[in-house]
Amino acid sequence: MDKIILKKGRDESLKRFHPWVFSGAVAEISGNPAEGDLVGVFSHEGEYLASGHYQIGSIAVRILSFDADPSSPDFYNVLISRALGVRKAAGLVDSSNTTCYRLVHGEGDSLPGLIVDYYDGVCVMQAHSAGMFRARKQIAQALREVYGGSLKAVYDKSSSTAPYKAGLDLVDGYLYKAPGFEDDRITVLEYGNRFNVDWTQGQKTGFFLDQRENRRLVSRYASGKEVLNLFCYTGGFSVYALSAGASHVDSVDSSAKAMAMLEENIALNGFDPSTHKGYCADAIDFLKDSPEGKYNLMIVDPPAFAKHRGALSNALRAYRRLNAAAIARVAPGGVVFTFSCSQVVDKEAFALAVFSAAAETGRSVRILDRLNQPADHAVNIYHPEGEYLKGLALYVE
Ligand code: SAH
Repeated sequence: MDKIILKKGRDESLKRFHPWVFSGAVAEISGNPAEGDLVGVFSHEGEYLASGHYQIGSIAVRILSFDADPSSPDFYNVLISRALGVRKAAGLVDSSNTTCYRLVHGEGDSLPGLIVDYYDGVCVMQAHSAGMFRARKQIAQALREVYGGSLKAVYDKSSSTAPYKAGLDLVDGYLYKAPGFEDDRITVLEYGNRFNVDWTQGQKTGFFLDQRENRRLVSRYASGKEVLNLFCYTGGFSVYALSAGASHVDSVDSSAKAMAMLEENIALNGFDPSTHKGYCADAIDFLKDSPEGKYNLMIVDPPAFAKHRGALSNALRAYRRLNAAAIARVAPGGVVFTFSCSQVVDKEAFALAVFSAAAETGRSVRILDRLNQPADHAVNIYHPEGEYLKGLALYVE
């Protein structure tokens, strides 16, 4: 293993188990590691600290281990088994009404750069680092060992997430298929609601598993309501609202593919088609054109407005405008569920943007619930950056 030697005094964060080594902390690289190689990280005084995947860029090493040897053949098996143990503890495995969950959430599971979502026997992985992409066959093998005969397929969908500059051969495809498994999609259950998940055509790994608990909470407020689901994707919140007895749901997304899958999901759950209408449109324009007081439950779940720090102030302005439009239009006594999945917008900044939005409308607003990501999107306590999804449920007088 090549060695990364840190500058004097720059070993503090690794000693507190933070899983990244920034390039600015590196004094010397002994050897000539390629992107994705395993490297050992040493303090300036020569003390071994940890090992991980090397990459050129602002994060030079993503730590895989502070003790175990990441080059040992059972490394991924051990870490993935631990990750499954966490999902079992959260009641998500072998549940009769939920057959999908996030199995590996990067740093949250001590596997920086790796995401694996589980859809009723199908694992869809996305590598965000060269090292994880290069380890994909070992990861697929470990998934086979962990799930045994119940594993239907492992699909690698890293072409849009792995660093293409590292010269990787980025083509999505199956790393494993059980005999007889032919489909590129599957029907999953989430709290008894049915969804088709298509990992080749869908966004990210196919479904936004991070909203499961928030969708469940929405169902508590949905009975008898006129609902507007903005940025609806394949209709997660819409299906929960209709299951809970909403009188009508309008769903809006700019992706035609997502809207087609949403229509399938509405049919799959057997709802009366007259209780739902889908609009393939810009959500912000749709909201601005909608009459005041028409909806008494709104869900506002936009894509990340800020993908990096530089975009922060524009993003905060966009969140404020969007939320002001929603709060201004919801019916008196209505509820708005509003979210941000931008990692660089922390919950205080988001709450402040929503507070300014409320003040702009002059309406009286109460916070009913503070929302976040669920247990299977685990946050490593030493890596608070892993927290990205936040939201508020608002009651608007
Ligand atoms: N709430 C969804 C996830 C939303 S992800 C769920 O529970 O599954 C964000 C969605 O916003 C994506 O589906 C994307 O297609 C959509 N989107 C992005 N920009 C948009 C815009 N300007 N208007 C409408 N939809 C948009």
